[in-house]
Amino acid sequence: MGTAYRVRALALRKTKLGESDLIVTLLAADGCQIRAVAKGARKTKSRFGARLEPFSVADLMLSPGRSLEIITEAETVTSHDALRSDYDRLRAASVVADFLDKVSVECQAEERTFALATTTLDVMERSEIELLPAVVTAFLIKGMAMQGYRPQLSSCAMCAAATDVHDVRFSLSAGGVVCLACGGADVSAMSVAADMPVILDALVRAKLADVAALGIPAPAITDALRLVGAFVVYHVPARMKALDAYLRGA
Ligand SMILES: [Zn+2]
Repeated sequence: MGTAYRVRALALRKTKLGESDLIVTLLAADGCQIRAVAKGARKTKSRFGARLEPFSVADLMLSPGRSLEIITEAETVTSHDALRSDYDRLRAASVVADFLDKVSVECQAEERTFALATTTLDVMERSEIELLPAVVTAFLIKGMAMQGYRPQLSSCAMCAAATDVHDVRFSLSAGGVVCLACGGADVSAMSVAADMPVILDALVRAKLADVAALGIPAPAITDALRLVGAFVVYHVPARMKALDAYLRGA
């Protein structure tokens, strides 16, 4: 056994292990994913209580185990209770946790990911319900940008030529708007509303807390969510059930 260490982490997912234990998938503050066992966590009188529930942020003491770390202590930093008690918030927060679970598989030591995740969950906890799809969309487009997939929105993502301002096409494979010549040969290119590049650019640039103030109309957000969702599904190989469900309800 190695030396125990302390880490602040966001709980993304829990799975049952044996009679009374849990395996908790965590996003550590440095952006690395950790999988750890919480012994006895499913007993009614567990000392962990709800501190390891998905979306909660906790300071943990971990002991290195053979394949998984062992959680020996957990202290709540932010419980994000409201995300588990409201159906709409739960659905939105589940997209965040599912996305991070799938993209943080390897340690990328990307501290911005943790900050984006916790800020998004903070905003989702107090946001008006009607604005949740905008927050989800902004999270996904920012999350993709941190993974190296920042959408190219000002000129053709393939040949850098100016794009048609009326007939706008977005290519999932090229990751941005494409000119008519490039878009014609690209099966992943789709027509989008003329103002979609401006909307996506606003979402990728805005702070999460300021997304509501952008005042993007709900139908445009629905279109943006579907497009960004398709972009995520195209580039992230793992299936994201929470995102699939969210897009079906959009
Ligand atoms: Zn082009």
